[in-house]
Amino acid sequence: MSEWQSLAVENPEIPEVLDMDGGETIGAAEAIGDDYAMAIQLRMELRASIAREKPKFLCPICQVPVYLVSRKEGRRFFFRHLIEDGRCSAHTRGELGEKEIDARRYNGAKESRDHLRMKEIVAESIACDPRFSLPKTQETWKGALGGWRWPDVQAKFGELRMAFEIQLSTTYIRVIAERREFYLREGGLLVWLFKRFDESGNRLTQDDVFYNNNRNVFLASEETLAASKAAGKLCLECRWTEPVLDGGSVVLHWQRKIVSIDDLTVDTERQRIFFYDFDGTVARLSANAKAAREETLRRRFEAFWLDRAERGRSDGRDDLGPWNGFRKAFDEIGLKLTTYPGGEGSETLLNALYSAKHGRIIGWSYKKFIEIAHRIAGGHKPYLWAFRLALAAYDRRALILSEDQSGLWRKKVARYKDLMDEGAAEYQPDRRFDGLVAFLFPEIADGLGKYPTPEPGKG
Ligand SMILES: [Zn+2]
Repeated sequence: MSEWQSLAVENPEIPEVLDMDGGETIGAAEAIGDDYAMAIQLRMELRASIAREKPKFLCPICQVPVYLVSRKEGRRFFFRHLIEDGRCSAHTRGELGEKEIDARRYNGAKESRDHLRMKEIVAESIACDPRFSLPKTQETWKGALGGWRWPDVQAKFGELRMAFEIQLSTTYIRVIAERREFYLREGGLLVWLFKRFDESGNRLTQDDVFYNNNRNVFLASEETLAASKAAGKLCLECRWTEPVLDGGSVVLHWQRKIVSIDDLTVDTERQRIFFYDFDGTVARLSANAKAAREETLRRRFEAFWLDRAERGRSDGRDDLGPWNGFRKAFDEIGLKLTTYPGGEGSETLLNALYSAKHGRIIGWSYKKFIEIAHRIAGGHKPYLWAFRLALAAYDRRALILSEDQSGLWRKKVARYKDLMDEGAAEYQPDRRFDGLVAFLFPEIADGLGKYPTPEPGKG
């Protein structure tokens, strides 16, 4: 057993779904996965696909579209038929229907008073900002392609048409998804506004909005109304989570701030509006962490290679213990090391490149640096291209010339340089180690593939 733990319920009625994108059947556990945020995003995606009448997942037995339900206990998920009329052997309904839930949670007068006050707050806050059109609270938004909606508040901000919906209690994911699709088609933007927000994640509707909005949610209150009046622009309270690196792992911190509309990024394509770019930060953090891991590996490998050269290698089959460790680490970044250190002719290449990098002889018992250059240009022509790139990158021209009293090297260079410019076959680089060389010597990575192509009819 691996440590991977799907968020799917155990023994679900619908154990597999048919993915209409790839035409494949996927197990419920795999489809739901082990990441809560991604499961909530899938929930939205499935409902949106149903609203677009292009369902993403079907039940493979009865071909009825399915959506993702979150069970309150333990926040586990399962698939449910959109319609259940006895045609399928899987039974996924039978819990409370929307109407019954509505009846139970209906909280009468207080809720409608709160709702009314929230609407006033939003409309008044918008009215503070002259860049908005006058807010409307009692009007239909007619869709250009049919359909209509009655947003709590609507207004235009410049060219952007915005709808504000107040979120006081549960709103079904179906409703949220249908509205998203409507405003997306309209080229507008829907903003959900909460009166309160529970950071413990105990309210599913809140999660449905939060995880589909780059982990930002907005609240409106008497406090944000006062801020809007003071600033002369629409202000809202934003709550978001910030990933912070803590040792090797990422910890999420809740943040809160009153922000103005000018501080926000609008992404109508994905119906997102956010203050803090959570997804962007996560991508940057993981890119940084990856770069740091790679740099450590690059240094460890170099230290190993230099130490090995210092000790004087035997037949190349030494140091297999640490080498196997390196092979595993390089495997993880998609690079294959040879079976033993310096195998397949890589010994000469790496010695030449490390010598160029450090400006001293590594791996040979030569007296002078220039002897390496003669060795490569004479006996290892397919490595000469990479070696020259390294001499240039690490600025070793002066060193070689200072050792070239006879002028023999200069003559050699003049000869092979012409041949290289024509793309001569004898200097055609050996590309087998390009990946490894590019990783170990990033300074020359770009040049590795740029050996001249021979002109037609020549070479
Ligand atoms: Zn079915």
